[in-house]
Amino acid sequence: MKRIPGPKSLKDKIAIVGGGPSGIHMAYKLKNAGFENVVVFEGSEDVGGKSRTIYHRGVPHEFGTCYGQPDYTEIYDLVREHDAGDILPMPGPDMWVDTPGGKVPLKTSQYYGLEARKLRPDLANGTELQFFMAAIQKYVRLHGELFGQYEGMLMPRPDRTVLAATNMTFLDFLRKHDIEILKALFIPAATMQGYGHVDEISALYAMMWLTPKFLLGIIPRTDGTRNIKILSKGFQFLWQEMKRQNNLNVKLNSPVLGIIRTRKGFRVIYRDCKFFRFEKFDFLILTPTLRTMSNIIQFNREENSYFQRSFDYYIISTLVDTTYGRRSGAPTGYYVDNINSKIDNLVWGFRDSYASLRDILGTNYSSGIYPGGTDGRKIESSIYYQEPQSRPNRATAKRILRNHIENVNQAKVLKVQKQIVWDNYFPRFSIPDMASGILWDIFDMQGKYGIWYIGSSVSFESLTGVVGYNNLLLKHVDIPTK
Ligand SMILES: Cc1cc2nc3c(=O)[nH]c(=O)nc-3n(C[C@H](O)[C@H](O)[C@H](O)COP(=O)(O)OP(=O)(O)OC[C@H]3O[C@@H](n4cnc5c(N)ncnc54)[C@H](O)[C@@H]3O)c2cc1C
Repeated sequence: MKRIPGPKSLKDKIAIVGGGPSGIHMAYKLKNAGFENVVVFEGSEDVGGKSRTIYHRGVPHEFGTCYGQPDYTEIYDLVREHDAGDILPMPGPDMWVDTPGGKVPLKTSQYYGLEARKLRPDLANGTELQFFMAAIQKYVRLHGELFGQYEGMLMPRPDRTVLAATNMTFLDFLRKHDIEILKALFIPAATMQGYGHVDEISALYAMMWLTPKFLLGIIPRTDGTRNIKILSKGFQFLWQEMKRQNNLNVKLNSPVLGIIRTRKGFRVIYRDCKFFRFEKFDFLILTPTLRTMSNIIQFNREENSYFQRSFDYYIISTLVDTTYGRRSGAPTGYYVDNINSKIDNLVWGFRDSYASLRDILGTNYSSGIYPGGTDGRKIESSIYYQEPQSRPNRATAKRILRNHIENVNQAKVLKVQKQIVWDNYFPRFSIPDMASGILWDIFDMQGKYGIWYIGSSVSFESLTGVVGYNNLLLKHVDIPTK
Protein backbone atom coordinates (compact mmCIF):
# COMPACT_ATOMS: atom_id res chain seq x y z
CA MET A 1 0.00 0.00 0.00
CA LYS A 2 1.37 3.44 -1.00
CA ARG A 3 2.51 5.37 2.10
CA ILE A 4 1.46 8.98 2.78
CA PRO A 5 4.02 11.32 4.39
CA GLY A 6 2.87 12.66 7.74
CA PRO A 7 4.26 14.14 10.96
CA LYS A 8 7.71 12.71 11.69
CA SER A 9 7.50 12.48 15.45
CA LEU A 10 4.76 12.10 18.05
CA LYS A 11 6.04 15.39 19.47
CA ASP A 12 5.60 17.32 16.21
CA LYS A 13 3.33 20.35 16.47
CA ILE A 14 0.30 19.78 14.25
CA ALA A 15 -2.21 22.53 13.35
CA ILE A 16 -5.70 21.57 12.23
CA VAL A 17 -7.66 24.42 10.66
CA GLY A 18 -11.40 23.92 11.36
CA GLY A 19 -13.25 22.34 14.27
CA GLY A 20 -16.02 20.77 12.19
CA PRO A 21 -16.60 16.99 12.08
CA SER A 22 -13.50 16.28 9.98
CA GLY A 23 -11.19 18.39 12.19
CA ILE A 24 -12.52 17.04 15.50
CA HIS A 25 -12.46 13.45 14.25
CA MET A 26 -8.89 13.84 12.98
CA ALA A 27 -7.74 15.46 16.26
CA TYR A 28 -9.32 12.58 18.19
CA LYS A 29 -7.68 9.95 15.96
CA LEU A 30 -4.27 11.63 16.21
CA LYS A 31 -4.52 11.94 19.97
CA ASN A 32 -5.43 8.26 20.24
CA ALA A 33 -2.45 7.42 18.01
CA GLY A 34 -0.15 9.14 20.52
CA PHE A 35 0.44 12.59 18.99
CA GLU A 36 0.99 15.03 21.84
CA ASN A 37 0.79 18.47 20.22
CA VAL A 38 -2.32 18.76 18.12
CA VAL A 39 -4.05 22.16 18.06
CA VAL A 40 -7.40 22.74 16.37
CA PHE A 41 -8.19 26.33 15.29
CA GLU A 42 -11.91 27.02 15.05
CA GLY A 43 -13.07 30.40 13.80
CA SER A 44 -16.53 30.29 15.41
CA GLU A 45 -17.57 30.05 19.06
CA ASP A 46 -18.10 26.29 19.06
CA VAL A 47 -17.10 23.05 17.40
CA GLY A 48 -19.35 21.18 14.95
CA GLY A 49 -19.15 23.19 11.71
CA LYS A 50 -22.14 22.18 9.61
CA SER A 51 -23.36 19.97 12.48
CA ARG A 52 -25.25 22.81 14.14
CA THR A 53 -27.96 22.10 16.72
CA ILE A 54 -29.95 24.92 18.28
CA TYR A 55 -32.28 24.41 21.25
CA HIS A 56 -35.69 26.06 21.07
CA ARG A 57 -38.64 25.25 23.34
CA GLY A 58 -36.56 22.51 24.97
CA VAL A 59 -36.04 20.71 21.66
CA PRO A 60 -32.82 20.23 19.65
CA HIS A 61 -33.37 21.56 16.11
CA GLU A 62 -30.89 20.50 13.47
CA PHE A 63 -29.87 23.35 11.18
CA GLY A 64 -27.16 21.21 9.57
CA THR A 65 -26.41 17.47 9.90
CA CYS A 66 -29.71 15.79 10.68
CA TYR A 67 -29.76 12.12 9.65
CA GLY A 68 -27.63 9.01 9.93
CA GLN A 69 -27.87 6.35 7.25
CA PRO A 70 -27.33 2.58 7.35
CA ASP A 71 -23.63 3.15 6.51
CA TYR A 72 -23.00 5.28 9.65
CA THR A 73 -21.58 2.50 11.86
CA GLU A 74 -18.56 4.50 13.02
CA ILE A 75 -20.65 7.61 13.79
CA TYR A 76 -23.05 5.52 15.89
CA ASP A 77 -20.08 3.89 17.66
CA LEU A 78 -18.73 7.37 18.48
CA VAL A 79 -22.15 8.42 19.80
CA ARG A 80 -22.25 5.37 22.09
CA GLU A 81 -18.62 5.70 23.17
CA HIS A 82 -19.22 9.33 24.20
CA ASP A 83 -22.70 8.73 25.58
CA ALA A 84 -23.89 11.50 23.25
CA GLY A 85 -27.61 10.74 23.32
CA ASP A 86 -29.96 8.12 21.93
CA ILE A 87 -29.96 7.00 18.32
CA LEU A 88 -33.62 7.13 17.32
CA PRO A 89 -35.48 5.98 14.19
CA MET A 90 -36.50 8.86 11.95
CA PRO A 91 -40.11 8.92 10.78
CA GLY A 92 -40.17 8.49 6.98
CA PRO A 93 -41.10 11.60 4.98
CA ASP A 94 -44.28 12.11 3.00
CA MET A 95 -43.67 13.07 -0.60
CA TRP A 96 -45.87 16.04 -1.50
CA VAL A 97 -46.76 16.09 -5.20
CA ASP A 98 -48.60 18.67 -7.29
CA THR A 99 -52.16 17.92 -8.40
CA PRO A 100 -54.72 20.24 -10.04
CA GLY A 101 -56.14 20.76 -6.54
CA GLY A 102 -52.77 21.70 -5.02
CA LYS A 103 -49.98 19.77 -3.28
CA VAL A 104 -50.99 16.43 -1.72
CA PRO A 105 -48.93 14.10 0.49
CA LEU A 106 -48.09 10.55 -0.57
CA LYS A 107 -46.32 7.80 1.39
CA THR A 108 -42.92 7.04 -0.17
CA SER A 109 -44.11 3.63 -1.41
CA GLN A 110 -47.14 5.27 -3.11
CA TYR A 111 -44.85 7.83 -4.68
CA TYR A 112 -42.48 5.16 -6.01
CA GLY A 113 -45.52 3.34 -7.42
CA LEU A 114 -46.70 6.50 -9.14
CA GLU A 115 -43.27 7.15 -10.64
CA ALA A 116 -43.00 3.53 -11.81
CA ARG A 117 -46.33 3.84 -13.58
CA LYS A 118 -45.28 7.10 -15.25
CA LEU A 119 -42.26 5.35 -16.69
CA ARG A 120 -43.95 2.04 -17.47
CA PRO A 121 -47.71 2.50 -17.94
CA ASP A 122 -47.89 -1.15 -19.07
CA LEU A 123 -46.97 -2.50 -15.58
CA ALA A 124 -49.60 -4.81 -14.12
CA ASN A 125 -51.40 -3.32 -11.13
CA GLY A 126 -49.65 -4.06 -7.86
CA THR A 127 -46.30 -4.90 -9.46
CA GLU A 128 -44.83 -1.39 -9.23
CA LEU A 129 -42.78 -2.10 -6.13
CA GLN A 130 -41.43 -5.35 -7.61
CA PHE A 131 -40.29 -3.34 -10.64
CA PHE A 132 -38.63 -0.88 -8.31
CA MET A 133 -36.94 -3.63 -6.26
CA ALA A 134 -35.63 -5.33 -9.42
CA ALA A 135 -33.96 -2.03 -10.38
CA ILE A 136 -32.35 -1.79 -6.94
CA GLN A 137 -31.02 -5.36 -7.22
CA LYS A 138 -29.56 -4.56 -10.62
CA TYR A 139 -27.97 -1.35 -9.33
CA VAL A 140 -26.42 -3.21 -6.38
CA ARG A 141 -24.93 -5.78 -8.77
CA LEU A 142 -23.59 -3.07 -11.09
CA HIS A 143 -22.06 -1.15 -8.19
CA GLY A 144 -20.24 -4.30 -7.05
CA GLU A 145 -18.99 -5.03 -10.57
CA LEU A 146 -17.67 -1.49 -11.03
CA PHE A 147 -16.11 -0.81 -7.64
CA GLY A 148 -15.92 -4.10 -5.71
CA GLN A 149 -16.06 -4.10 -1.91
CA TYR A 150 -14.41 -1.24 -0.01
CA GLU A 151 -14.60 0.67 3.24
CA GLY A 152 -15.62 4.32 3.61
CA MET A 153 -17.09 6.45 0.84
CA LEU A 154 -14.15 6.95 -1.48
CA MET A 155 -13.75 3.75 -3.40
CA PRO A 156 -10.23 2.71 -4.55
CA ARG A 157 -9.24 4.56 -7.75
CA PRO A 158 -11.38 3.02 -10.50
CA ASP A 159 -9.53 1.97 -13.65
CA ARG A 160 -9.85 3.89 -16.93
CA THR A 161 -12.71 1.78 -18.27
CA VAL A 162 -14.76 2.31 -15.10
CA LEU A 163 -14.05 6.05 -15.12
CA ALA A 164 -15.15 6.18 -18.77
CA ALA A 165 -18.27 4.15 -17.99
CA THR A 166 -19.26 6.67 -15.32
CA ASN A 167 -18.30 9.85 -17.22
CA MET A 168 -21.92 11.04 -17.34
CA THR A 169 -24.77 12.30 -15.22
CA PHE A 170 -26.37 9.81 -12.86
CA LEU A 171 -29.57 9.96 -14.93
CA ASP A 172 -27.68 8.97 -18.08
CA PHE A 173 -26.07 6.12 -16.14
CA LEU A 174 -29.48 4.89 -14.92
CA ARG A 175 -30.90 5.11 -18.45
CA LYS A 176 -27.93 3.32 -19.94
CA HIS A 177 -28.55 0.41 -17.59
CA ASP A 178 -32.32 0.51 -17.93
CA ILE A 179 -32.94 1.36 -14.26
CA GLU A 180 -34.26 4.89 -14.72
CA ILE A 181 -36.92 4.31 -12.08
CA LEU A 182 -34.20 4.85 -9.44
CA LYS A 183 -34.31 8.55 -10.25
CA ALA A 184 -37.45 8.61 -8.06
CA LEU A 185 -35.42 7.33 -5.11
CA PHE A 186 -32.65 9.83 -5.78
CA ILE A 187 -34.92 12.71 -4.71
CA PRO A 188 -35.45 11.72 -1.06
CA ALA A 189 -32.10 9.93 -0.74
CA ALA A 190 -29.81 12.48 -2.37
CA THR A 191 -31.27 15.61 -4.03
CA MET A 192 -33.12 16.57 -0.87
CA GLN A 193 -29.84 16.14 1.07
CA GLY A 194 -28.29 18.76 -1.24
CA TYR A 195 -26.42 16.32 -3.46
CA GLY A 196 -27.68 17.70 -6.77
CA HIS A 197 -30.23 16.86 -9.40
CA VAL A 198 -30.09 13.44 -11.00
CA ASP A 199 -29.66 14.99 -14.47
CA GLU A 200 -26.76 17.18 -13.32
CA ILE A 201 -24.64 15.29 -10.83
CA SER A 202 -21.74 13.06 -11.77
CA ALA A 203 -22.60 9.37 -11.70
CA LEU A 204 -19.46 8.83 -9.61
CA TYR A 205 -20.59 11.14 -6.79
CA ALA A 206 -24.04 9.56 -6.86
CA MET A 207 -22.54 6.10 -6.53
CA MET A 208 -20.19 7.17 -3.74
CA TRP A 209 -23.28 8.18 -1.77
CA LEU A 210 -25.71 5.46 -2.85
CA THR A 211 -23.79 2.42 -1.69
CA PRO A 212 -25.49 -0.99 -1.85
CA LYS A 213 -25.78 -1.06 1.95
CA PHE A 214 -27.45 2.35 2.03
CA LEU A 215 -29.85 1.58 -0.78
CA LEU A 216 -30.88 -1.80 0.56
CA GLY A 217 -31.25 -0.20 3.99
CA ILE A 218 -33.68 2.52 2.99
CA ILE A 219 -36.16 0.69 0.80
CA PRO A 220 -39.68 0.58 2.23
CA ARG A 221 -39.73 -2.31 4.72
CA THR A 222 -42.57 -4.59 5.61
CA ASP A 223 -41.25 -5.24 9.16
CA GLY A 224 -41.49 -1.54 10.03
CA THR A 225 -37.72 -1.15 10.61
CA ARG A 226 -36.57 2.41 10.01
CA ASN A 227 -32.92 2.73 9.08
CA ILE A 228 -32.59 6.51 8.93
CA LYS A 229 -31.63 7.75 12.40
CA ILE A 230 -31.68 10.99 14.35
CA LEU A 231 -29.93 11.83 17.60
CA SER A 232 -31.90 12.73 20.72
CA LYS A 233 -29.40 15.46 21.63
CA GLY A 234 -28.46 16.48 18.12
CA PHE A 235 -25.33 15.88 16.07
CA GLN A 236 -23.39 18.88 17.31
CA PHE A 237 -23.43 17.40 20.80
CA LEU A 238 -21.31 14.49 19.55
CA TRP A 239 -18.48 16.80 18.43
CA GLN A 240 -18.77 18.88 21.61
CA GLU A 241 -18.52 15.73 23.75
CA MET A 242 -15.60 14.36 21.73
CA LYS A 243 -13.75 17.61 22.34
CA ARG A 244 -14.61 17.66 26.06
CA GLN A 245 -14.17 14.00 26.97
CA ASN A 246 -10.91 13.59 25.05
CA ASN A 247 -9.58 16.92 26.23
CA LEU A 248 -8.79 17.98 22.68
CA ASN A 249 -6.85 21.22 22.37
CA VAL A 250 -9.33 23.37 20.43
CA LYS A 251 -8.90 27.13 20.22
CA LEU A 252 -12.42 28.54 19.75
CA ASN A 253 -13.10 32.01 18.31
CA SER A 254 -9.71 31.72 16.64
CA PRO A 255 -10.03 32.19 12.89
CA VAL A 256 -6.86 31.44 10.99
CA LEU A 257 -6.08 34.52 8.91
CA GLY A 258 -2.90 33.49 7.21
CA ILE A 259 -0.47 30.58 6.91
CA ILE A 260 3.12 31.07 5.80
CA ARG A 261 5.10 28.13 4.54
CA THR A 262 8.63 28.11 5.94
CA ARG A 263 11.59 25.79 5.38
CA LYS A 264 10.80 23.87 8.56
CA GLY A 265 7.01 23.95 8.52
CA PHE A 266 4.33 26.60 8.85
CA ARG A 267 3.61 29.83 10.69
CA VAL A 268 -0.06 30.14 11.51
CA ILE A 269 -1.49 33.62 12.00
CA TYR A 270 -4.78 33.67 13.88
CA ARG A 271 -6.98 36.05 15.80
CA ASP A 272 -7.48 35.45 19.50
CA CYS A 273 -10.01 37.98 20.88
CA LYS A 274 -8.68 41.26 19.56
CA PHE A 275 -5.08 40.11 19.19
CA PHE A 276 -3.26 38.67 16.24
CA ARG A 277 -1.01 35.78 17.15
CA PHE A 278 1.63 33.72 15.37
CA GLU A 279 2.49 30.11 16.14
CA LYS A 280 4.97 27.73 14.48
CA PHE A 281 3.89 24.25 13.45
CA ASP A 282 5.64 21.26 11.88
CA PHE A 283 2.62 19.88 10.08
CA LEU A 284 -0.65 21.29 8.75
CA ILE A 285 -4.12 19.83 8.23
CA LEU A 286 -6.69 21.89 6.32
CA THR A 287 -10.39 21.03 6.64
CA PRO A 288 -12.56 23.90 5.23
CA THR A 289 -13.50 24.04 1.54
CA LEU A 290 -10.05 24.18 -0.02
CA ARG A 291 -10.97 26.64 -2.75
CA THR A 292 -11.69 29.21 -0.03
CA MET A 293 -8.37 28.52 1.71
CA SER A 294 -6.41 30.24 -1.05
CA ASN A 295 -7.14 33.53 0.77
CA ILE A 296 -5.18 32.20 3.72
CA ILE A 297 -2.36 30.14 2.29
CA GLN A 298 -0.53 30.54 -0.96
CA PHE A 299 -1.20 27.27 -2.73
CA ASN A 300 1.35 26.06 -5.23
CA ARG A 301 0.53 25.32 -8.83
CA GLU A 302 -0.42 21.66 -8.26
CA GLU A 303 -2.69 22.44 -5.30
CA ASN A 304 -4.39 25.28 -7.19
CA SER A 305 -4.90 23.16 -10.27
CA TYR A 306 -7.20 20.94 -8.22
CA PHE A 307 -8.78 23.15 -5.59
CA GLN A 308 -9.77 26.05 -7.85
CA ARG A 309 -11.92 23.72 -9.93
CA SER A 310 -14.53 23.01 -7.26
CA PHE A 311 -17.95 24.66 -7.03
CA ASP A 312 -20.85 24.32 -4.62
CA TYR A 313 -24.49 24.90 -3.64
CA TYR A 314 -26.36 26.81 -0.95
CA ILE A 315 -28.78 25.50 1.64
CA ILE A 316 -31.04 27.73 3.68
CA SER A 317 -32.27 26.24 6.97
CA THR A 318 -34.97 28.26 8.73
CA LEU A 319 -36.62 27.52 12.07
CA VAL A 320 -40.18 28.83 12.09
CA ASP A 321 -42.92 28.79 14.72
CA THR A 322 -46.34 28.38 13.12
CA THR A 323 -49.88 27.47 14.05
CA TYR A 324 -50.90 23.87 13.31
CA GLY A 325 -52.05 23.92 9.69
CA ARG A 326 -52.89 21.20 7.19
CA ARG A 327 -50.85 18.18 8.24
CA SER A 328 -50.29 14.75 6.79
CA GLY A 329 -49.39 11.83 9.04
CA ALA A 330 -45.62 12.45 8.76
CA PRO A 331 -43.77 15.17 10.69
CA THR A 332 -41.40 15.55 7.78
CA GLY A 333 -42.16 16.12 4.11
CA TYR A 334 -40.46 16.77 0.79
CA TYR A 335 -42.06 18.90 -1.96
CA VAL A 336 -41.18 16.84 -5.01
CA ASP A 337 -42.35 19.25 -7.71
CA ASN A 338 -40.67 22.23 -6.08
CA ILE A 339 -37.42 20.22 -6.08
CA ASN A 340 -37.84 19.14 -9.71
CA SER A 341 -38.73 22.67 -10.85
CA LYS A 342 -35.16 23.88 -10.05
CA ILE A 343 -36.64 27.30 -9.26
CA ASP A 344 -34.37 28.95 -6.71
CA ASN A 345 -35.69 29.44 -3.17
CA LEU A 346 -38.82 27.28 -3.45
CA VAL A 347 -39.33 25.23 -0.29
CA TRP A 348 -37.93 21.71 -0.65
CA GLY A 349 -38.87 20.18 2.65
CA PHE A 350 -39.53 20.55 6.35
CA ARG A 351 -39.09 18.65 9.60
CA ASP A 352 -41.06 19.15 12.78
CA SER A 353 -38.22 18.39 15.20
CA TYR A 354 -40.24 17.63 18.35
CA ALA A 355 -42.71 15.28 16.64
CA SER A 356 -39.85 13.53 14.82
CA LEU A 357 -37.92 12.95 18.04
CA ARG A 358 -41.03 11.87 19.94
CA ASP A 359 -42.20 9.66 17.06
CA ILE A 360 -45.59 11.37 16.85
CA LEU A 361 -47.00 9.96 13.62
CA GLY A 362 -50.20 9.17 11.73
CA THR A 363 -53.41 10.61 13.13
CA ASN A 364 -51.57 11.51 16.35
CA TYR A 365 -49.69 13.99 14.21
CA SER A 366 -52.28 15.05 11.64
CA SER A 367 -54.97 15.68 14.27
CA GLY A 368 -52.55 17.93 16.19
CA ILE A 369 -53.46 16.55 19.61
CA TYR A 370 -49.89 16.74 20.96
CA PRO A 371 -47.96 19.89 21.84
CA GLY A 372 -45.13 20.99 19.57
CA GLY A 373 -42.44 21.35 22.24
CA THR A 374 -41.65 20.58 25.86
CA ASP A 375 -43.49 23.75 26.93
CA GLY A 376 -46.81 22.03 26.16
CA ARG A 377 -47.99 24.70 23.70
CA LYS A 378 -49.67 23.72 20.45
CA ILE A 379 -47.25 25.63 18.27
CA GLU A 380 -45.32 23.86 15.54
CA SER A 381 -41.58 24.57 15.37
CA SER A 382 -40.19 23.20 12.11
CA ILE A 383 -37.03 23.54 10.13
CA TYR A 384 -37.68 24.40 6.48
CA TYR A 385 -35.17 23.85 3.70
CA GLN A 386 -34.60 25.88 0.55
CA GLU A 387 -31.71 24.87 -1.67
CA PRO A 388 -30.97 27.52 -4.32
CA GLN A 389 -28.20 27.07 -6.87
CA SER A 390 -27.31 30.78 -6.84
CA ARG A 391 -26.48 32.99 -3.86
CA PRO A 392 -29.78 33.66 -2.10
CA ASN A 393 -31.23 36.96 -1.05
CA ARG A 394 -32.43 36.41 2.53
CA ALA A 395 -35.48 38.68 2.23
CA THR A 396 -36.67 36.95 -0.95
CA ALA A 397 -36.11 33.52 0.56
CA LYS A 398 -38.11 34.48 3.67
CA ARG A 399 -40.96 35.89 1.61
CA ILE A 400 -41.21 32.69 -0.48
CA LEU A 401 -41.08 30.59 2.67
CA ARG A 402 -43.84 32.62 4.31
CA ASN A 403 -46.07 32.22 1.20
CA HIS A 404 -45.44 28.49 1.22
CA ILE A 405 -46.38 28.12 4.86
CA GLU A 406 -49.56 30.15 4.39
CA ASN A 407 -50.69 28.57 1.11
CA VAL A 408 -49.44 24.97 1.19
CA ASN A 409 -49.42 24.27 4.92
CA GLN A 410 -52.38 26.60 5.51
CA ALA A 411 -50.71 27.75 8.71
CA LYS A 412 -49.88 31.14 10.15
CA VAL A 413 -46.28 32.17 10.69
CA LEU A 414 -45.90 33.20 14.32
CA LYS A 415 -42.18 33.87 14.31
CA VAL A 416 -39.14 33.14 12.16
CA GLN A 417 -36.76 32.11 14.94
CA LYS A 418 -33.52 31.76 13.03
CA GLN A 419 -32.23 31.39 9.52
CA ILE A 420 -28.82 30.06 8.48
CA VAL A 421 -27.59 30.30 4.92
CA TRP A 422 -24.94 27.65 4.32
CA ASP A 423 -22.65 28.55 1.50
CA ASN A 424 -19.93 26.25 0.19
CA TYR A 425 -22.34 23.34 0.52
CA PHE A 426 -21.27 20.13 -1.23
CA PRO A 427 -18.05 21.47 -2.75
CA ARG A 428 -17.52 19.21 -5.72
CA PHE A 429 -16.02 18.73 -9.14
CA SER A 430 -17.50 18.59 -12.64
CA ILE A 431 -18.37 15.32 -14.36
CA PRO A 432 -15.24 15.33 -16.60
CA ASP A 433 -13.03 16.22 -13.63
CA MET A 434 -14.47 13.33 -11.64
CA ALA A 435 -13.99 11.01 -14.58
CA SER A 436 -10.37 12.16 -14.85
CA GLY A 437 -9.88 10.84 -11.30
CA ILE A 438 -9.40 14.22 -9.58
CA LEU A 439 -10.34 12.93 -6.10
CA TRP A 440 -7.68 10.23 -6.35
CA ASP A 441 -5.11 12.70 -7.75
CA ILE A 442 -5.69 14.84 -4.65
CA PHE A 443 -5.35 11.75 -2.46
CA ASP A 444 -2.00 11.02 -4.13
CA MET A 445 -0.85 14.57 -3.22
CA GLN A 446 -1.55 14.06 0.51
CA GLY A 447 1.50 14.83 2.62
CA LYS A 448 3.67 15.77 -0.36
CA TYR A 449 3.86 19.42 0.78
CA GLY A 450 3.67 18.79 4.55
CA ILE A 451 -0.13 19.17 4.45
CA TRP A 452 -3.10 16.84 4.67
CA TYR A 453 -6.21 18.14 2.92
CA ILE A 454 -9.34 16.72 4.48
CA GLY A 455 -13.05 17.61 4.87
CA SER A 456 -15.92 17.56 2.47
CA SER A 457 -14.22 19.30 -0.47
CA VAL A 458 -11.88 16.36 -1.06
CA SER A 459 -14.32 13.63 -0.08
CA PHE A 460 -18.11 14.00 0.14
CA GLU A 461 -20.42 16.34 2.01
CA SER A 462 -21.53 13.97 4.78
CA LEU A 463 -20.27 12.66 8.09
CA THR A 464 -19.41 9.27 6.60
CA GLY A 465 -17.72 11.11 3.75
CA VAL A 466 -15.34 13.10 5.95
CA VAL A 467 -14.82 10.52 8.71
CA GLY A 468 -14.26 7.73 6.17
CA TYR A 469 -11.71 9.89 4.37
CA ASN A 470 -9.76 10.50 7.59
CA ASN A 471 -9.64 6.75 8.19
CA LEU A 472 -8.51 6.04 4.65
CA LEU A 473 -5.76 8.62 4.90
CA LEU A 474 -4.54 7.39 8.29
CA LYS A 475 -4.46 3.82 6.98
CA HIS A 476 -1.77 4.96 4.54
CA VAL A 477 0.32 6.80 7.16
CA ASP A 478 3.16 5.28 9.18
CA ILE A 479 2.61 6.48 12.74
CA PRO A 480 6.02 7.34 14.28
CA THR A 481 7.07 5.50 17.40
CA LYS A 482 8.07 7.40 20.56
C1 LIG B 1 -28.41 21.72 6.08
C2 LIG B 1 -27.41 20.60 6.16
C3 LIG B 1 -27.87 19.30 6.34
C4 LIG B 1 -26.94 18.25 6.43
N1 LIG B 1 -27.42 16.98 6.67
C5 LIG B 1 -26.53 15.97 6.81
C6 LIG B 1 -26.99 14.68 7.16
O1 LIG B 1 -28.18 14.46 7.35
N2 LIG B 1 -26.07 13.69 7.31
C7 LIG B 1 -24.73 13.93 7.12
O2 LIG B 1 -23.92 13.00 7.27
N3 LIG B 1 -24.28 15.14 6.79
C8 LIG B 1 -25.14 16.17 6.64
N4 LIG B 1 -24.69 17.41 6.34
C9 LIG B 1 -23.27 17.56 5.95
C10 LIG B 1 -22.29 17.54 7.12
O3 LIG B 1 -22.74 18.41 8.11
C11 LIG B 1 -20.93 17.99 6.58
O4 LIG B 1 -20.53 17.12 5.55
C12 LIG B 1 -19.84 18.01 7.64
O5 LIG B 1 -20.16 18.93 8.64
C13 LIG B 1 -18.51 18.40 6.97
O6 LIG B 1 -17.52 18.50 7.95
P1 LIG B 1 -16.19 19.33 7.67
O7 LIG B 1 -15.40 19.26 8.90
O8 LIG B 1 -15.59 18.86 6.39
O9 LIG B 1 -16.66 20.82 7.36
P2 LIG B 1 -17.50 21.85 8.22
O10 LIG B 1 -18.57 21.16 8.95
O11 LIG B 1 -17.90 22.90 7.25
O12 LIG B 1 -16.46 22.44 9.25
C14 LIG B 1 -15.45 23.34 8.86
C15 LIG B 1 -15.08 24.18 10.08
O13 LIG B 1 -13.98 25.01 9.75
C16 LIG B 1 -14.16 26.27 10.35
N5 LIG B 1 -13.35 27.24 9.61
C17 LIG B 1 -13.50 27.65 8.33
N6 LIG B 1 -12.54 28.54 8.01
C18 LIG B 1 -11.78 28.68 9.11
C19 LIG B 1 -10.61 29.47 9.41
N7 LIG B 1 -10.06 30.27 8.51
N8 LIG B 1 -10.08 29.38 10.66
C20 LIG B 1 -10.61 28.56 11.59
N9 LIG B 1 -11.73 27.80 11.35
C21 LIG B 1 -12.28 27.86 10.14
C22 LIG B 1 -15.66 26.51 10.24
O14 LIG B 1 -16.10 27.48 11.18
C23 LIG B 1 -16.19 25.11 10.54
O15 LIG B 1 -16.42 24.92 11.91
C24 LIG B 1 -25.56 18.50 6.30
C25 LIG B 1 -25.09 19.81 6.18
C26 LIG B 1 -26.01 20.86 6.10
C27 LIG B 1 -25.52 22.27 5.96
